[in-house]
Amino acid sequence: MFENIQKKLSSAFKNLSGQGKISEKNIKEAVRQVKLSLLEADVNYKVVKDFIDKVKEEAMGAKVLESLTPDQEFIRVVRDNLIELMGGNKPEKISLSRNPGFIMLVGLQGSGKTTHAAKLAKMYQKEGRKPLLIAADTYRPAAIDQLVQLGDSLGVPVFTGDKTDARNIVKEGKKYAEKLLHDIVIVDTAGRLHIDQQMMDEVEDIKNIVNPEEIIMVVDSMMGQDAVSSAKEFNDRLELSGFIVTKLDGDSRGGVIISIREITKKPVKFVGVGEKLDEFEPFYAERYAGRILGMGDVLSLIEKVEQEVDKEKAEEDAKRMMEGKITLEDFLQNIKQIRKMGPLSKILEMIPGTQGVDVDTDKGEKEMTKMEAIINSMTPKERKDPKVLTYSRKQRIAKGSGTSLQDINKLLKSYDQLKKTMKQFKKFGKKKFFGNKMP
Ligand code: GDP
Repeated sequence: MFENIQKKLSSAFKNLSGQGKISEKNIKEAVRQVKLSLLEADVNYKVVKDFIDKVKEEAMGAKVLESLTPDQEFIRVVRDNLIELMGGNKPEKISLSRNPGFIMLVGLQGSGKTTHAAKLAKMYQKEGRKPLLIAADTYRPAAIDQLVQLGDSLGVPVFTGDKTDARNIVKEGKKYAEKLLHDIVIVDTAGRLHIDQQMMDEVEDIKNIVNPEEIIMVVDSMMGQDAVSSAKEFNDRLELSGFIVTKLDGDSRGGVIISIREITKKPVKFVGVGEKLDEFEPFYAERYAGRILGMGDVLSLIEKVEQEVDKEKAEEDAKRMMEGKITLEDFLQNIKQIRKMGPLSKILEMIPGTQGVDVDTDKGEKEMTKMEAIINSMTPKERKDPKVLTYSRKQRIAKGSGTSLQDINKLLKSYDQLKKTMKQFKKFGKKKFFGNKMP
């Protein structure tokens, strides 16, 4: 109880002193720090300026979390915006629908194209596909031999053709892939130390020959500011589908990721984190936002406070549910929580005493999917109080969620049942279960 009073007082004090909400004045220092930090991470100057202006505007007037200062709250908003800017936390996949599907890798010399052509081949090979590598980098001495060696180590064939004319190699390689029924073809093209006309003409011709579904530019994360102009030029000329950013195992904080994304609006799909062929992973924005922003201490403090807030909310939710005030939104959150733990069959395996028990987990999964779809199709008001649902709304929801009226009624029945159980629990359960100690 004292805790509550204390909280209310400190919150009132925060508001009186102007610390309860973000204002231009109370985040001046944080704005300066964030700018510096992003510039130090090698994010392009213009990108930093536009980004900060946008975030500042968005953050103005936002409420400051209880245990944070306005400066820290601003950094929290910056972090969230960085994650969003980099495409959220769902890695963008390579998407191929044709057979064979063509992926063309482009980029400057030394960025890691050849290595990453092999990494991609390894990934597909692991998935049970039948990749072919085409070595069309006739410019860098030894690039073709390097790819042949990498292919050999994987047992993935490498098409080299006459080793001299890139356009010809690609034309022949395409025929070869079709004849030998390869389902994925990865084309390694020539780079230069700097962009030049001859290289651009060549990659454009190769694009026209293979008509690839994916054109991925490989960018060295240590390249700094130059990455932006070259990414822009490649994208203007070829209309890229995404990037692979390499050498993130080194010291670079990875500011390049932000710059190229902001300038080209194309996603980073994978990152290279070492020279070995399995040092390669899908790009998770959340992992890199912290690294790019730096400010480790502040970020871990923010995370701690967020966890605390989540814990408080969970406690409040639990208390409310125990009082029988459960909503369909709670239902949905519970299903999501269960899903996070893995498939039902796996969860059951982890529960002692369930071995050998015959439960139709497939049916359970299907039921959960249906419930999720139904609740997702409801408005917030309906989720809070499904009594407001009319017959015609139920029909609309069934249509929208690909379920039937019967499914909806079944869900509502289980929901009522649960509510009743909770209420009974409150009435009789507390004393019985917890003696007199329960509040
Ligand atoms: P290309 O000229 O674009 O084909 O570049 P390469 O594939 O030959 O790579 C250039 C150098 O960078 C080679 O020594 C690679 O081993 C190294 N390299 C490539 N990707 C990575 C990476 O993600 N991390 C590290 N540490 N080195 C890499």
